[in-house]
Amino acid sequence: MSEIAVSSSQATSTGRSAPAVSDAAPAIIFDRVGVSYRRGKKRTDALIDFNLRVAVGETVALLGPSGSGKSTALNALAGFVRPTAGRVRLSGRDVTDLPPSKRGIGVVLQSYALFPHMRVADNVAFGLKSQRVARREIGPRVAEALDMVGMASFGKRLPRELSGGQQQRVAIARALAIRPKVLLLDEPLAALDARLRQSMLAELQQLKEALPDTAMLYVTHDQAEALALADRVVVMNDARLMDVDTAQDLWTRPPTSFTAAFLGGANLIPCTIGRVIGTSALVNVAHKTVSAEAPQPAVGKVEWAPGAQALLCIRPHALQIVGLGHPEALRATVNASVWRGATTRVVLSVAGMADRLIEVDAPGHTGYPVGTEVGVRFPEPAGVLVQAGR
Ligand code: ADP
Ligand code: MG
Repeated sequence: MSEIAVSSSQATSTGRSAPAVSDAAPAIIFDRVGVSYRRGKKRTDALIDFNLRVAVGETVALLGPSGSGKSTALNALAGFVRPTAGRVRLSGRDVTDLPPSKRGIGVVLQSYALFPHMRVADNVAFGLKSQRVARREIGPRVAEALDMVGMASFGKRLPRELSGGQQQRVAIARALAIRPKVLLLDEPLAALDARLRQSMLAELQQLKEALPDTAMLYVTHDQAEALALADRVVVMNDARLMDVDTAQDLWTRPPTSFTAAFLGGANLIPCTIGRVIGTSALVNVAHKTVSAEAPQPAVGKVEWAPGAQALLCIRPHALQIVGLGHPEALRATVNASVWRGATTRVVLSVAGMADRLIEVDAPGHTGYPVGTEVGVRFPEPAGVLVQAGR
């Protein structure tokens, strides 16, 4: 409670409008945050000019390959690393200079980081004690938090007496016990096996529903987790924010080729734009004219100019392998074929597409020997245009 009081008085003293600022302000603001690590003479820019606002109750996923700066962003907000540039704000309050324990946020890490010598209940009580919550309140708050993660009967155990999934539940309960307005999760499921990851993902979805006022920042390199949990997805690459939007929009009209490829995999085939009609276009690819979606992105404006080069983004599952005699088929040669269970990933070199390879996800287990000639058929429309060079 005292946190809120501080936040509104600070906001007022800095001349911002009303005491209600903590309701109106975004839960999280990254304002041009930069982080550089120094090791001897070597400097790594781990985060460059990072801007993001997360609304009260919103869940945003930071998605990107390993080393792209996701954890650095989360750690800058949590207070575990100091930004070399910019400011971070929580509920309108500038917390850049506060120690982590004073920021009032819950943090869950991949490694659980439970205190090994403390029983589960004491682990969960830890944050409450350091916040000086009244003694008689601690018991019920611990019970409430453990109950939320289905661990109510485990309070007396030591962490080593729990499975990995159970330890992670306790770590989540510990983060929730302080009733944070902001919950940060850094690859919380990465250490779990595939099946447990699925069930924990479903539990995190329920937790999100149960905490409608809690903003969450969820770091992952796994697009399935981002799609399942996030209201919006930030795609990170090379210390920078590449794109930010709803998962749906990033998937259906990827603003950059990086996002197109990172989110779900994509064939990005160079093409020449022909006629443009509204949000569709005719494009030339491999000496063939096909139709494509030519969307306006949610942010910024794109001119799809006739004659210009672009990339045609086609998802591997949207392509079809057909007989060579099919009237709409392009001729192709099988380069590789890998069975993945529900689908087979077939890599093709297509006549007229120089040395560019195309990936097709064919349903079932289809073993095409390398060197087989097949036909490949584009869907209609063939795909979505992505600007070349982005
Ligand atoms: P991600 O979480 O996306 O995998 P990180 O934010 O952990 O990426 O790292 C971003 C970059 O910063 C990487 O190049 C990484 O090697 C570097 N880095 C991270 N932590 C440190 C550190 N403590 N000292 C030096 N370099 C670091
Ligand atoms: Mg990381």
